[in-house]
Amino acid sequence: MNENKKIPLKVFIKTFGCQMNEHDSERMYGILSDHGYTFTHQEKEADLILINSCSIRQKAEQKAFSILGRYRALKAKNPRLHIGFCGCIAQREARSILCRAPFVDLIFGTKNIHRLPQLIEKMGKTHKPIIEVIDDDSGRFEQFLGKIRRENHIKAWATIMQGCDNYCTYCVVPYVRGREWSRSAGDIIAEIKTLALQGYKEVTLLGHNVNSYGKGQDCTFPELIQRIQPIPGIERIRFTTSHPKDLSEELIVTIKDCSKVCEHIHLPFQSGSDKILKRMRRHYSHNDYLKKVDFLRKIIPDIAITSDVIVGFPGEREEDFQQTLQLIETIQFEGLFTFLYSIRPQTTAGNFSEQVPNNIKQERFNILLQIQNQISSARNALLVNTKQEILAEEILREDKRTSSIEKLRGRTRSNKIVEFEGSSDLIGNLFEIEIRKANRFNLEGIIL
Ligand code: SF4
Repeated sequence: MNENKKIPLKVFIKTFGCQMNEHDSERMYGILSDHGYTFTHQEKEADLILINSCSIRQKAEQKAFSILGRYRALKAKNPRLHIGFCGCIAQREARSILCRAPFVDLIFGTKNIHRLPQLIEKMGKTHKPIIEVIDDDSGRFEQFLGKIRRENHIKAWATIMQGCDNYCTYCVVPYVRGREWSRSAGDIIAEIKTLALQGYKEVTLLGHNVNSYGKGQDCTFPELIQRIQPIPGIERIRFTTSHPKDLSEELIVTIKDCSKVCEHIHLPFQSGSDKILKRMRRHYSHNDYLKKVDFLRKIIPDIAITSDVIVGFPGEREEDFQQTLQLIETIQFEGLFTFLYSIRPQTTAGNFSEQVPNNIKQERFNILLQIQNQISSARNALLVNTKQEILAEEILREDKRTSSIEKLRGRTRSNKIVEFEGSSDLIGNLFEIEIRKANRFNLEGIIL
């Protein structure tokens, strides 16, 4: 336990954003646990609240600041409470956070997580707000190995690279996560072997652009997957996120040849208009994207493809939007994450002329969502009466009186959520299910 009784011992972390942020929070929990902290799911009980913020869209930023207001009220009632602000917003604008919210005790950047115990200690001693946002790549990952505190005991994330060199004109990632940086294959393999020994069945390889993994390393992404494939105990391998321009034929063949790699790819296309793709600096065209998908489906016929699309990028006219709809109709994605364009600080697109009015953005968003909902339902319906391999992940509903389990939830290899009846000892196991019913966002089935 912590010997310094002045330092708070119960921590609550509120995480916004992508899996990279979720995984960073797992690291923070791990490192704090190692220094004697305990965890609470109740904000009111916490002595330390950390807000791990996301900066990818304006809405995500607003959410982080709005919750900060709520925590201010908690702090007014509990003077022992310390509040920390970290993640992508903190990396970008630490000083202005303090101006906006002077009651925040600690602000640190995305590259300073490993310094958390020292920063908290300093905060306890000085009783002044502490800010640390410095580029510190020293042992960013390796010193966390064995300390990451994962909530899920079946599926784990493993970071393989971070940052991005692409500078898409709308994206803030290169400014808040820095230049692209890959971990050594040896370190990644060691981490995944440890996960397998701990009983994890599935690993998701994480990075802002995993396809270009390997800069400065003696290993490419397909080679890395081939080295992970034989690790005993790991039954499923997933990865995210991919960039269409870096999705090579070699990688597609590797996905097919490595039996543990699941038949699902998240491949953001962002727009169906060549004019907009150029303004976004995406380095592929509508047709290039279609060709990649054709090749993917030729080599792996049952691959599930999901994607991201931005609606209302500056300069997007009706004809550009129609090309986006055309692409969606042609590809028939399993699922689509649709975002309204919002100006991000420091990005080139923020200065573009022809910003699209909000009402038009919203109108296009609604049209797109309606079309994609129909496609998702139709894609799910295709699976009715098929047999699917399931990894049982969690108990959905339990009969408290008899303690017999009523409903479980798992995922297919194509990443579809399936609900089915079963008992708790199935959690963490792989088995076959027959799909009996398809809904828009999930499937229902029975164990064979
Ligand atoms: S490739 Fe992805 S992470 Fe990199 S700048 Fe473009 S959108 Fe952002």
